[in-house]
Amino acid sequence: MAQPHGNNPFDQQKQIPGVKHVIAVSSGKGGVGKSTVAVNLALALSKKNKVGILDADIYGPSLPRMTGTLNQKPVINEDQKLQPLVRHNLKLMSIGYLVDESAAVVWRGPMLFKAMDQFLRDVNWGELDYLVVDLPPGTGDVQLSLAQKIPVSGALVVSTPQNIALADVKKAVDMWDRLGIRRLGLVENMAWMVNPVNGEKIQLFPKGELDSYANSKDLRKLAQIPFDPSVSMASEAGMPIVESHSKGEEAKTFFALADQIRELLPLIPAVEGP
Ligand code: ADP
Repeated sequence: MAQPHGNNPFDQQKQIPGVKHVIAVSSGKGGVGKSTVAVNLALALSKKNKVGILDADIYGPSLPRMTGTLNQKPVINEDQKLQPLVRHNLKLMSIGYLVDESAAVVWRGPMLFKAMDQFLRDVNWGELDYLVVDLPPGTGDVQLSLAQKIPVSGALVVSTPQNIALADVKKAVDMWDRLGIRRLGLVENMAWMVNPVNGEKIQLFPKGELDSYANSKDLRKLAQIPFDPSVSMASEAGMPIVESHSKGEEAKTFFALADQIRELLPLIPAVEGP
């Protein structure tokens, strides 16, 4: 991880005005369902709270497609701030609104730091209970930049169950520990698949040592999400599963995850007047 110049880069940390909690959603590997978890969690939280989602996955922004907002452009308001888009009561911002979907983003560290600064400071997020940040996979400049710029309330790590993914989970956990950011827990995605013929569980990916590792690190498993084509079809259609099948099992899992997040990161009630 590149260190920008200066004595202690964490001195730059400044809260985003009006935003109570920032939740980082991370993964060691790409393709494990991090964005799927981030957007469905944000939507589940938004049923009871004021929520925004920042798609900071600069190498593969998927929020525009997943929320049916492809080709839309955020407007700049009179204060020269970017106005987030709003879908299903959720405020949205993504690098995908600003660069072409097929354009490769080839940025050096300092440019990433600048881009993150704009996403956090130059977006009119307004009052939010939770800002969910969907990070790129791995442990790089975007993660470091986020940690240095704002106080992050906690981080989720998303993984699939097999040992090939575990090595990268360990790196993600190690990164949050080094950055001094509280780990909220682990979300195991594609944990199994239900055989449509007999209802039995099929282990799509072999179960590895994820559970024993998580136990050894005091990393709580907050949710297990099965592989279900309805999850990917919903995302593809721009209407994530929490919205498209809000009474289904997967949506219930995301609502339960949201409840756990509310418990782990309670909102401080407003001070009563005299
Ligand atoms: P990441 O952000 O980790 O790269 P994505 O969230 O983009 O991963 O997911 C990768 C692909 O897997 C997408 O097509 C997504 O719809 C699909 N997917 C993710 N989770 C599930 C699931 N539980 N069941 C079915 N498909 C899933």
